[in-house]
Amino acid sequence: MGDNADRINEDGEVTVALGVEPFAPPDDFTCTYCGAPMRLRENDYGPWWSCTGWPGCDARVGAHPDGRPLGTPARAELRRWRRAAHLVFDALWRRDRDNPSPPMSRTEAYAWLGRQTAIRHIAECDEHQCYYVIRAVYHRKPS
Ligand SMILES: [Zn+2]
Repeated sequence: MGDNADRINEDGEVTVALGVEPFAPPDDFTCTYCGAPMRLRENDYGPWWSCTGWPGCDARVGAHPDGRPLGTPARAELRRWRRAAHLVFDALWRRDRDNPSPPMSRTEAYAWLGRQTAIRHIAECDEHQCYYVIRAVYHRKPS
């Protein structure tokens, strides 16, 4: 795979190559807050990772069906920021009754986000990056 090529995964989500390493592989996946190992768990919604420092640390992150983490661990406040960023960002592409004519496809929206903010996935964002996502969408100029 070329180092500079954008990649599109099976969900149509664009991963923009930025020279940034993907998150740590699951066999040494540790909590970014406390350093404790992350443990893969399963519930009715599927697999997810939780910090073994719980209850002192409530960091967690969802997982793909094969167990790969969807992003970096997040504590409650960061999870709220990520939900807010997704709510705002997803309106660029998600079609529903309240948003019948979104301005972009999902692929276009992630490509746009990568150009605006160098952010590839909201699930990898910290609080400030979530704020940048929200601000970038708010100030977006229709093309
Ligand atoms: Zn932790």
